[in-house]
Amino acid sequence: MNGVHSGLPILDDLDAEGQRVVVRCDLNVPLANGAIADDLRIRAAVPTLRALLERGARLAVCSHLGRPKGKVVEDLRLAPVGQRLSELLGTAVTETRDVVGEEAATACESDIQVVLLENLRFEPGEEENDPAFADELASLGDRYVNDAFGASHRAHASIAGLPARLACAAGYLLADEVAKLERLLHGAERPYVAVLGGAKVSDKLGVIANLLDRVDAICVGGAMAFTLLVATGQKVGRSLVEEDRVEEVKGVLEEAARRDVPILLPVDVVAADSPEVGSPHKVVPLKRIRDRMGVDIGPRSAEQFAEVISTAKTVLWNGPMGIFEIDDYSHGTSAVASAIAAATRRGAFTVAGGGDSAAALNRLGMTDAVSHLSTGGGASLELLEGRDLPGIRALREATTMGGDRR
Ligand code: ADP
Ligand code: MG
Repeated sequence: MNGVHSGLPILDDLDAEGQRVVVRCDLNVPLANGAIADDLRIRAAVPTLRALLERGARLAVCSHLGRPKGKVVEDLRLAPVGQRLSELLGTAVTETRDVVGEEAATACESDIQVVLLENLRFEPGEEENDPAFADELASLGDRYVNDAFGASHRAHASIAGLPARLACAAGYLLADEVAKLERLLHGAERPYVAVLGGAKVSDKLGVIANLLDRVDAICVGGAMAFTLLVATGQKVGRSLVEEDRVEEVKGVLEEAARRDVPILLPVDVVAADSPEVGSPHKVVPLKRIRDRMGVDIGPRSAEQFAEVISTAKTVLWNGPMGIFEIDDYSHGTSAVASAIAAATRRGAFTVAGGGDSAAALNRLGMTDAVSHLSTGGGASLELLEGRDLPGIRALREATTMGGDRR
């Protein structure tokens, strides 16, 4: 791998036997009524944890969950996550009721094999990247492993602060995510097609800009398509538009034209009176959207996207084509998912990123549709924008500075 992120210290090189290893995972799972709605991220954390246990390490696993903003929020305790993790690991997991307090310190000094520290974001020092908090967290272990790809774009204490304090390595999930996403930036096989959708064009303009000299075509659906359509002078009714981005989008479209990269926009839409379940809706050519709202791409658009995808050797997909949470508005997303699944079956390298894209695949029972399903939403977007993620930079700098400095 020759990407900008090569040179990461790898897990297999970390001397972990008999050591207490602080493992930063991304166990930030969606919750519904206190239960785990999707355990993808917990399952993804298992290989690294299991490997460390097999090598005779004791673990201090840590993660954030939700946005408690520096204080204890009872509903955001990690206990349900610990229970699921214990089932998946087949090992007891001891949850502490604090992050770096006495209970955590005592548990980490003991023989307990797997300690799960309480929600990191209960401590204000986590998001502030407070050096004192990073010191306390580091004092719980002898080694550090970052396997939290989905949080590695955050310069938080557990991500950016620990590599300088403990001998460290990237976990398997982090290394795998970086390798797969790097493949989309360096030396991807052509034709290379990006399919973008989701809520906001502002989240994804940086990705479009960075991909323009790499891809052969970009298909755009979802709400973000409407800002692009407005930038090309079309009427979009009451569809979601980010007016303050229209000028910027025009610039990106001009750049795409200069580079001869076709950007396919929807030609038909599912037009609804409102974005709710049961609202009157029908498929119309974009021209006939009137004062309705586009809630999904129409079948002709889906067909055009599928045709482009059918030629691809590399596909990046980020963002659903419509409000997939509502069955009536999920057909565009499932059509694109099927086209990508077919591409995967004939050997194309296909990657889906973004929390809602993963949720859409999950809902469709199609998580196998892609070669790689990224666990990182914001992190994968930032990486695809060509940015160096703080967590990855910290790991790399820790090695170049020379190993164990404890
Ligand atoms: P991801 O998490 O995969 O990056 P985003 O967070 O950008 O995706 O966007 C997902 C959200 O976009 C979903 O909640 C979906 O309902 C919404 N969405 C998609 N298309 C539309 C649309 N046409 N109008 C309103 N919302 C939309
Ligand atoms: Mg999202």
